[in-house]
Amino acid sequence: MILVSACLLGIRAKYDGGDNTVNKLVNLCATGKVIPVCPEQLGGLTTPRPAAEIKGGSGADVLKGMARVYNKEGVDVTESFIIGAQEILKICRLYSVKAAILKERSPSCGCNMIYDGTFQSVRLPGQGVAAALLAANAIPVYSEEELTDELLAHLVKG
Ligand code: SF4
Repeated sequence: MILVSACLLGIRAKYDGGDNTVNKLVNLCATGKVIPVCPEQLGGLTTPRPAAEIKGGSGADVLKGMARVYNKEGVDVTESFIIGAQEILKICRLYSVKAAILKERSPSCGCNMIYDGTFQSVRLPGQGVAAALLAANAIPVYSEEELTDELLAHLVKG
């Protein structure tokens, strides 16, 4: 089974009520091997919701208590991000998930890049909170931007 960010599958889970549809991932659902998840919704946040960014580090730093997540209104939403990450880890264990394909640059789902907490579109290397928790638990995470047809075929086969 493969965990996929819900917004990549056309589900309107994004902070602004939209989605980030990637057609080849939508088509993958026909294999019956895809589980759509949105960690921010599972953490109890509404949709739509104010945009959020990690301040002071990466998702891994948030998990260590060394950085926090704030929304654009200045509200600390760290707890919801951590709960959402823990819930998707539970889903991974329930379904023996082998890998996750997650939305790049999201403060939850980013696999290689996130924003720096200034809401100025400044990118930093690092993972979002949910991606970092899965990676720390030996579940490989890939962003939709690094997904080649070969990698996708490999993940579906595995
Ligand atoms: Fe998509 Fe992840 Fe953001 Fe949910 S938290 S909208 S799945 S990028």
